[in-house]
Amino acid sequence: MASLPGGLIIAIDGVVGAGKSSTARGVAAALAYRHLDTGAMYRAFALAAMRRSIEARDSEGVAQLLVQLDLTIDIRDGEQRVLLDGEDVSDEIRRPEVAREVGAFADVTLVRLALIERQRSLGSRGGVVADGRDAGSVVFPDADLKVRMTADLDERARRRYRELIEKGVSTSLELVAADIRRRDREDEARDYGARHDPAETLELDTTELTVSQQIDGIVSWARQRGA
Ligand code: C5P
Repeated sequence: MASLPGGLIIAIDGVVGAGKSSTARGVAAALAYRHLDTGAMYRAFALAAMRRSIEARDSEGVAQLLVQLDLTIDIRDGEQRVLLDGEDVSDEIRRPEVAREVGAFADVTLVRLALIERQRSLGSRGGVVADGRDAGSVVFPDADLKVRMTADLDERARRRYRELIEKGVSTSLELVAADIRRRDREDEARDYGARHDPAETLELDTTELTVSQQIDGIVSWARQRGA
């Protein structure tokens, strides 16, 4: 049984490149739940700061921006749209300039606390699939279903490499693998005050799974829990 009127809270976290976002989107669509892409919120904050030339180490500027921030996460035709000051920035937050800067802002405690509060309020009625590295450990420690997605490094590198090549980016598999290895190390070194409890987190190794198999697996766990 869902503990909230709107349905379950499902939290999906896991390693870089395991396919958290696309899987979470698919699970949300299958259950008619909302997809809460926490990474998109950090990206939107970074974009807002970049537009105002505020750097992550400028604590006063960051604090002020958190007060002023007009950030809306909207679902339109089943797609999550991110609005900053009323403008749809869903595509712009995916640009490499934003990807390069977002980590520095995501490391600022004040930013994390403010965004986590928003994420909790977006999930407060349930019926939500949240993805992000701290989705199950920090944002929703009492989620009805927590999943950690993993995959072998080689497989994650191959997936990311294919994606980049399809987008016309010229790179090599070795470079992509080195980048993922670096981000894995950075993630391991970060402390988000995570309260990990492996006993209640279901692990989904996606190395040999297609995205639709990943979605089906999580949906069936969710059904067993009353979704
Ligand atoms: O998932 P995505 O790649 O969109 O996340 C962008 C960045 O936002 C991550 O690389 C990380 O720095 C930050 N992030 C975070 N905590 C989350 C989600 C994302 O720190 N829950």
